[in-house]
Order: sequence, then C-alpha cells, then structure tokens
Amino acid sequence: MTKIAVVEGDGIGHEVIPVARKILGILHPEYEYFPVDVGYGMWERTGCPCADREIDTLKTADAILFGAITTPPMKDYQSVVLRIRKALDLYANLRPVKGDGFDIMIVRENTEGLYSGIEEITPDRATTLRVVSRTGSERIVRAAIRLVQQRKGHLTIGHKANVLKSDVLFRDVCTAEAKAAGVSFNDKYIDALALDILQHPASYDVVVTTNIFGDILSDMASYLVGGLGLVPSANIGDRYALFEPVHGSAPDIAGQNIANPIAAIRSAAMLLEYLGDREGAARMESAVSRVLAQGIRTRDLGGSAGTREFGDAVVSELSREP
Ligand code: NAD
Repeated sequence: MTKIAVVEGDGIGHEVIPVARKILGILHPEYEYFPVDVGYGMWERTGCPCADREIDTLKTADAILFGAITTPPMKDYQSVVLRIRKALDLYANLRPVKGDGFDIMIVRENTEGLYSGIEEITPDRATTLRVVSRTGSERIVRAAIRLVQQRKGHLTIGHKANVLKSDVLFRDVCTAEAKAAGVSFNDKYIDALALDILQHPASYDVVVTTNIFGDILSDMASYLVGGLGLVPSANIGDRYALFEPVHGSAPDIAGQNIANPIAAIRSAAMLLEYLGDREGAARMESAVSRVLAQGIRTRDLGGSAGTREFGDAVVSELSREP
C-alpha cells in the first residue's frame, strides 16, 4: 500500500495541509495517510523539534506531504527543514513557476552551499561556510539536465563565479555536464539572472543554481504568478521525496483561515506525479484553475474566500468531473 506521511508543521501549515490532504484523499482513498509531528510547536511542547524517531517514521513513507516549519532566530535552534533534507538526502529542490506564456522550473541544490550547516559564532564574528562539492554539483545538474531532456527545453546555470570560488567549481561542473549531455544551455550571473527572469520570464525553461540562490530566486519569481501562496515544490533524493509549498509558516496570518492553499494543493499534485499518477495531478491543477476562473480567490489574490472555502470549491470542482 502507498504510504503518505503528512506533516502539517507550524503556522499556516495547520490550515493549508489539511486542504491538500483532503483533496489527495478524494483522488486516492486507498493510500495510507499518517501524521508526523515535527516543528517549533513540537519543540515548545517537548524541547525537541524533530527527533531521530520522526526521521525514521518519515523514511517509511513513499512520499511526504509537508507544510512549513517555523525556525525562530535563536542561536541554538537547528532548522528542522534542513535536518530533514539532509537526513533524507533530498538533494534536488524543484520549484515550478508557471504563468501566462512562461513555464520555469527552478532546480535548487538542496543539501550544501550556504546551508551546509557549518557555522562558527563568537561574540565578535560569525562565519558560515559555503560548501560546493563536485559530487553535489554533478548530481544536481544531472537532475536538471534530465528535466531539460523531458521538456525538450533549455538549461540556464545561475552562479556568481565572478566573485565566489565555490561557484567557479559549480559553473564548470554544470557546463561540462551540459556539454556532455548535448543539451542547449547558457550561464548567467545570479544577480543579472534575477532581474532578467522578472523582465523576460518566457526566455527561461530549467534554471539550475546553488542552495541559497535558488531559495531567493524562487521566492522572487513567485511575484510573476501572484505571490508565495501559489508556488509548490518537490524535494527529491534517490530514495525519498518530500512535497511542500515554497512559502513558510506565515505567522503573521496563521490561524485566521486566510492563507492561500493553492501552493499546498499544487505540492500534492507534484506528489501524485512523482508516484506516477499524472492524470490525478492534472485533475488537481485543472480544478484549481476552474475555481480561480470562477473568481473564487483568497485574500492575497484580492478575493475574500477563506482557506477552507477555497479548498471546498476545489473539492466540488473535482466531483463535477466525469
Ligand atoms: P513566509 O513564506 O512564511 O511569509 C512571507 C509572507 O508571505 C508573509 O507576509 C505571509 O503572510 C505571506 N504568505 C506566505 N504564504 C502565504 C499563503 N499561503 N497565503 C497567503 N500569504 C502567504 O516567510 P517568512 O515570513 O520569511 O517566514 C516565516 C517562518 O517560516 C519563519 O520561521 C521561517 O523560518 C519559516 N520558513 C519555513 C519554510 C519551510 O518550512 N520550508 C520556508 C520558508 C520560511
């Protein structure tokens, strides 16, 4: 039986994930869904945001549907999201940004770079080590190249090799792999790339970059489609896969039933695609589009529908289909 771990996490994760879970349950009532509690809330209750036991439980799932986790700016608090990505070796973070006339897939290296977790803090100096390895660069660019081949598209390599030695390695590895695979590619400095994506989104297909650049680039690119409430993501490794909205726990709007659940629903659609149900994924996407076309929108998109009401509208669209 297909097993899905459901992690609501913190903040609006408690609101948007139940909507996505309900929709998944309608399309796949035969899956086994089980909750896993990790995050800041868990830390407040138990003093531990994510124990080895939870990691082991996550590893039993065929796929993980994940909300968002609050990471408080406390010196000794270790990010749960980073811990899970590392423990499950979810090295490829795929963040699709699709809109009118453009379809960009941002492929972000997810396990090293500036988020390698190697830091030193003294009262007068704080250091974060940015690690870029040949192996890490090879596997992420190969994942990006597979997507380019599937999409019959183009690869853009985003880096800052003019300043960072670590990105010289990243750029050179990516370039060599792209040449060897025979795909169409170019490379751009990340700052120029950020502006150009906003100005000419239709010129881009698959964009591969390092960890923090991919994080920032995808939040920025969400501007093209209406904001963070719309952009989903997949975190894929060789053995495990986790699907989550690009947005965080949004404490500023949590508990008010106003968060947009589309990013969570689309993350669930990516999960279905990963499990081989392309048709189910397309049905979810199409139901979301039809609800938007009816003018039903959450507050971030200028509407007045609540999180649950938007979810119910998607559910009723799904049931209208033959
Ligand atoms: P955020 O994405 O939570 O929120 C940024 C802004 O976007 C906020 O104004 C928020 O209200 C809005 N927003 C986000 N999602 C929305 C949605 N679905 N509908 C409507 N509006 C939405 O980012 P932040 O404020 O920088 O971070 C808040 C917390 O989330 C922090 O603790 C951060 O560490 C954490 N975070 C977690 C993840 C993750 O779990 N993968 C990712 C990013 C941030």
